[in-house]
Amino acid sequence: MLGLMQSQPLLISSLIEFAERHHGDAEIVSRRVEGDIHRYTYRDLAARARRLANALDELKLQFSDRVATLAWNGYRHMEMYFGVSGSGRVLHTVNPRLHPDQIAWIINHAEDQVLCFDTTFLPLVQAVHARCPTVKKWVALCDADKLPADTGIPGLTSYESWIGAQSSDYAWPEFDENSASSMCYTSGTTGNPKAALYSHRSTTLHAYAAALPDVMCLSARDSVLPVVPMFHVNAWGIPYSAALTGCKLVFPGPAMDGKSIYELIEAEKVSYAAGVPTVWQMMLGHMKPAGLKFSTLRRTVIGGSACPPAMIHAFKEDYGVEVLHAWGMTEMSPLGTLCTLKNKHLLMSKDEQMKILQKQGRAIYGVDMKIVGGDGNELPWDGKTYGDLLVKGPWIVGSYFKGEGGDPLVRDTQGRGWFPTGDVATIDADGFMQITDRSKDVIKSGGEWISSIDIENIAMSHPAIAMAACVGMPHPKWDERPIVAVVKRPGTEVTREELLAFYEGKTAKWQIPDDVVFVDAIPLGATGKMLKTKLREQLKDYKLPSL
Ligand code: ADP
Repeated sequence: MLGLMQSQPLLISSLIEFAERHHGDAEIVSRRVEGDIHRYTYRDLAARARRLANALDELKLQFSDRVATLAWNGYRHMEMYFGVSGSGRVLHTVNPRLHPDQIAWIINHAEDQVLCFDTTFLPLVQAVHARCPTVKKWVALCDADKLPADTGIPGLTSYESWIGAQSSDYAWPEFDENSASSMCYTSGTTGNPKAALYSHRSTTLHAYAAALPDVMCLSARDSVLPVVPMFHVNAWGIPYSAALTGCKLVFPGPAMDGKSIYELIEAEKVSYAAGVPTVWQMMLGHMKPAGLKFSTLRRTVIGGSACPPAMIHAFKEDYGVEVLHAWGMTEMSPLGTLCTLKNKHLLMSKDEQMKILQKQGRAIYGVDMKIVGGDGNELPWDGKTYGDLLVKGPWIVGSYFKGEGGDPLVRDTQGRGWFPTGDVATIDADGFMQITDRSKDVIKSGGEWISSIDIENIAMSHPAIAMAACVGMPHPKWDERPIVAVVKRPGTEVTREELLAFYEGKTAKWQIPDDVVFVDAIPLGATGKMLKTKLREQLKDYKLPSL
């Protein structure tokens, strides 16, 4: 017997309709490429998303046709999130930090028909447009009078004149909630990038889950600053969860430096921010010497790579800000786990709580996870045994766009498919998962594994160290031995010997790195994560001191 409740598809358009009706006057504030601050409301956003939908109809774009963006976090990008997907097309957010050849490859692979870009990326578009035959309309996300002249890009139109010519009357179509809504390519560090193709259903379920109190805890009372880019995994789903909760939204535009972010947080009374550790590193680096404090910021979600415990500590003790450590990936829309305490942890000492809070956290309802050994058998949740982390759930990829890479799933004995994350992790008895490493970064020494994240976290807790990356170096006897590349904080001093001595008592003796290499910068990838492949290349002539 079936239930007798109304059957209504979970569609992205319902999020913007809800926001318009129930939070119509909640603000969306954006720093623009032009440098000024733009303000409007969810009501304005919804009307302009409908104009955009009409513009796409006029172009005769079909259901599921792809519309690409090369854009910062801002209100026009947000309109595309809703106007493109809401009207049944697929939003393809392209990461502008990728190499132009990779961008051209991605646009062709996705068969994008329209590409909308912030004028910052004009040189990039000029470099690739001739190689993108599927794109039939190029749109600059700017006012008509700011449209760059003589670009060589055929038929380049300004977004404002394009959607300004359209009516704001539009009835969002109803269709199968499993229809594709947006897509995001993985960074493709190994081989060509592959695309996760999200659906309306996966996106709305993720938006519900992300807003929960033990997840991102978003509410209509918050003023939310997503520093995490809208071109990478939908800014962790915040644009959708924002519409679902009606929170105030603050977009940083192109100004991603510590000073600009800090000023925006203060000016817009931001209570909640989200970003990768490197962004916060820059902001704290700006605030500390100037003795600045936050007046409204209360919580920040940090994820995308391991958040150093020293950063969690600094946010809490020096600035009164709670850090929510999050883990996820492009293939998971992206949220998998978030770290928040349980009731039974509340009476623990601060130190004991810190030990828990530095883990990647507990699975969100909707994400099932397990760790397995080399034989595929599940390993115990004892907080010590580590294994390959597998996940399954309704917002996790089943396969990639166009079937690239074949079937990525691993089947269990009941035939259920699990997605291998490529991460190595432990899970404790309370279900808190901790990433030991990416499987390709783990250091194998004498048959044992050393977690590069642990080695980096210890270095980062030293007051003179701004950033640290640990990699394994080939060793004839041990296979690999860890070394740590570090960037010193400006105006501080520390020697190799002092840093190596700092490790004593903080980790097992055999896990202490063999050497410290001082570098000016650690190479970062297109999503602000440490690029260890590049670091290894830079260190290709390096020799361990013991050899
Ligand atoms: P890519 O870096 O390949 O573009 P993603 O951005 O989807 O892919 O990154 C996903 C990966 O980032 C995870 O598999 C994991 O290795 C790493 N990651 C994400 N969050 C965390 C975290 N909180 N701690 C450690 N690693 C993390």
